[in-house]
Amino acid sequence: MDRNCAVIVAGGKGTRMNTEKSKQFIEIEGKPLIYYTIKAFDNNPAIHEIILVLPENEMEKFKEEVIKKYALKKSPVIVAGGKERQDSVYNGLKAIRDCEIVLIHDGARPFVTDDIINEGIKYAKLYGASACGVIPKDTIKVKDENGFSSLTPNRNTLFSVQTPQCFKYDVIMKSHEHIIKNNLKVTDDTMAVEALGGKVYLYEGDYKNIKITTPEDLILAEKLIYK
Ligand code: C5P
Repeated sequence: MDRNCAVIVAGGKGTRMNTEKSKQFIEIEGKPLIYYTIKAFDNNPAIHEIILVLPENEMEKFKEEVIKKYALKKSPVIVAGGKERQDSVYNGLKAIRDCEIVLIHDGARPFVTDDIINEGIKYAKLYGASACGVIPKDTIKVKDENGFSSLTPNRNTLFSVQTPQCFKYDVIMKSHEHIIKNNLKVTDDTMAVEALGGKVYLYEGDYKNIKITTPEDLILAEKLIYK
């Protein structure tokens, strides 16, 4: 068994984007954002299966606006998302048929590269869990409850984590089952692994691997799309 499966989570509402259209279907150069993200994994020969998590009421729209319009080599398995990101991830994990490495990726990060995907798989095989990211460009403060700075960590020890986050199948399944059982809230999947005492190898991502979250990110996305 040497199969790698990408779980792409696009089950959120994208409320910070302030648009009528849901974030995954906002168009960049005439194509929906989610198309670019899927395409990156579709084009990579190391990826054998793609699971796409969408809000239940957008599953048909995806078939109409992406599947029917663009030729994808790997027909994605489409599953419904959940209330929080971690619920959407778990729904995606449950749909996996047979794989060694799972790559969990935000649907809102269309600029992921082959290098990032391949390195993630390599390190997950070596260490069980890996995540890409970058050193923050800004100085990061810890703020106290009164709004004053309480700490300034050394920037070289900080890491702004991105996706994909890549795991051996058993590691990520057990971690998600653990957070469900213990009612823990996590904002990404590395936190789920850490909650069970696991370590995640952090490797270099790319400043271009942005998560499209607020309207100004779209301005950048238009510029990055052909780079
Ligand atoms: O909200 P956040 O920026 O952390 O979302 C990251 C990714 O997780 C997005 O691609 C979003 O669509 C997805 N998500 C999801 N299900 C949710 C919330 C977020 O799949 N309930």
